Amino acid sequence: MVINSFQGRTHRLLIVSMQYHFDGFHPGDPEVSSVQTDPLTDKGQVDVLIVGCGPAGLTLAAQLSKFPDICTRIVERKSGPLEIGQADGVACRSVEMFEAFGFAHKVVREAYWVNETSFWKPDPDGVIARSDRIQDVEDDLSEMPHVILSQARIHDFFLETMRNGPTGLVPDYQCELVGLERTSDPEFPVLASLRGSDGEPATVRAKFVVGCDGARSSVRNALGYELKGEAARQLWGVMDVLAVTDFPDIRLKCAIQSKDQGSILIIPREGGTMVRLYIELDELKERERAADRGVTADMLAEKASAILKPFRFDVRQVAWCSAYEIGQRVCDSFDDLDAEGERPDIPRIFIAGDACHTHSPKAGQGMNVSMADTFNLGWKLAAVLRGQAKPELLGTYSLERRAKAHELIAFDREMARLFSSKRSDPKAAKQFQHYFQKHARYTAGVETCYDASLIVGDEDHQQLAIGFGIGTRFHSGPVIRLADAKPLQLGHVLKVDGRWRLIAFAPSRDTGLPVGQIAHLCDYLRGDPNSPIARYTPSDADADSVFDVRAVFQSHHQELAIEAMPEFLKPIKGRLGLIDYEKIFCPDLKQGPDIFDLRGVDRKSGALVVVRPDQFVADILPLNHFEHLEGFFSRFMIPV
Ligand code: FAD
Repeated sequence: MVINSFQGRTHRLLIVSMQYHFDGFHPGDPEVSSVQTDPLTDKGQVDVLIVGCGPAGLTLAAQLSKFPDICTRIVERKSGPLEIGQADGVACRSVEMFEAFGFAHKVVREAYWVNETSFWKPDPDGVIARSDRIQDVEDDLSEMPHVILSQARIHDFFLETMRNGPTGLVPDYQCELVGLERTSDPEFPVLASLRGSDGEPATVRAKFVVGCDGARSSVRNALGYELKGEAARQLWGVMDVLAVTDFPDIRLKCAIQSKDQGSILIIPREGGTMVRLYIELDELKERERAADRGVTADMLAEKASAILKPFRFDVRQVAWCSAYEIGQRVCDSFDDLDAEGERPDIPRIFIAGDACHTHSPKAGQGMNVSMADTFNLGWKLAAVLRGQAKPELLGTYSLERRAKAHELIAFDREMARLFSSKRSDPKAAKQFQHYFQKHARYTAGVETCYDASLIVGDEDHQQLAIGFGIGTRFHSGPVIRLADAKPLQLGHVLKVDGRWRLIAFAPSRDTGLPVGQIAHLCDYLRGDPNSPIARYTPSDADADSVFDVRAVFQSHHQELAIEAMPEFLKPIKGRLGLIDYEKIFCPDLKQGPDIFDLRGVDRKSGALVVVRPDQFVADILPLNHFEHLEGFFSRFMIPV
């Protein structure tokens, strides 16, 4: 258990327990899948080819590695995993996503927690002075903290997840994509040309290719797309250092604007000693590249010392240093539906992450948004490949993520303008600070809201649970699991397994007995031939293999009888026909307002919250609106 305490309020961040042994007892580490499929024998023919082992590629690979029936290959032109450098800011929303993969606890243990941020600007004598110190993440924004951890460690956790999963997926390093074309092959219509470490060419036929190959993406180039927007002009120096200083806020995230030496962003790092410095350098000239400037660690250390004066800043070791220019740019489309040539019927080639949008490091979004892209895409690919969903589902990826990329570019542009505004403008520092505070929800990654679409309902019944915004991520809250009285976060049961969740919040006085609405809903889901469970779940699969139904009651957990609960909420599963006891929850009354109050769930009528496999709320319905529920899923699912 980790305690995240802000301003006297304590948030419990409980990592949900794992479920295993459904298919029989296996000794050893339960995180290592006991059923591993044979390693890929025919690497020349795959369901999904992922290009690039950055955060976008690894998030997708880790997600697809959960499905033993999907053949995935991931290639990377570098010789091995990232070891140092690049991004380090991990938004609360990303940590929530890591919990779905099962490694959030490792990240929060190892990382620096950004709990407060301080702002420094010149005082009337021109000497830097602290102007404010604020809470970084507002209360109840997320049960997860905002943390800082090396991008390389995030990669490590994804790689471990892939390796331990049922397909034992590992990347092919020193393997570069050199060509890509669509063919008339009806089953494997994308032909990728690769070059391996020996320089030998090879081809791969794939059903889908996803270019997670960074800002200079070959996949994007093959589609004939360009990143559009402002070309990179602003040069940034970035360094991870071990230093001795008397600057008092060195272990806080700080935005510092000096009178005439420039601006710096200090990001304390994991381990208690290292700090990252983002130092704003001059604008680049026309056609000039960051490498042309020959920026060195000494130059950056000198600049940092000048900005931090009169404080001492004595660099003892430079762990990593780089200079880079980033333009705020975005691609018109994130799939091949708009590519030149014959218009394909369904998207087969996608781009994600820096391949389709780039932005400055100030808002700390690069890694987070890249992971969010492929978290959005992965379950859609899986659903189509497994024959559960119509291919039209894939069109929602570009639609949803491109809109978010445009929002991010607009946000980043404004933030960059305010951060860099000249010191001659006395209002500039104040404006930056105000903007930073106002948009903390945005940088935490929890403001993402997808518009109504094939997979996001309208807002007809939003008032039944106003705190679960339709189109936003499912905002977790504390609950007690009925069967074993375990306190946990409800959101932590939403794992990356491609399943839809139907979370039924019971009306007051409903205790699960046959006269109540929850029992009525269960009868319908289990027995009605038109219910989504009956229509879309294969007859030989576990009843909850496509839809995971959970119920949350309003009563104290000691007042409810598990034996009286509908059998449907205690499904029989797995090879041995064991009972799943973990579907029923009650409010955690020791945690302040209970989940009904926290999320504004209508206590009188209850609500059915429909949650997508990527944890976003797809719809909210009255508990008995069965036709509406059927209509929603019939838009994109394929009956068995
Ligand atoms: P990337 O992380 O760029 O991953 C793309 C991967 O694809 C790379 O591993 C690349 O080798 C591989 N690849 C490319 N072409 C091919 C090919 N043809 N075949 C096979 N593999 C290929 N963000 C910050 O917030 N702060 C920072 O300080 C910061 N520093 C950065 C420094 C550098 C040098 C870089 C490149 C990026 C930095 N970023 C920083 C940005 C941040 O790292 C990215 O936003 C994030 O990594 C994007 O993830 P991605 O998966 O989309 O792409």
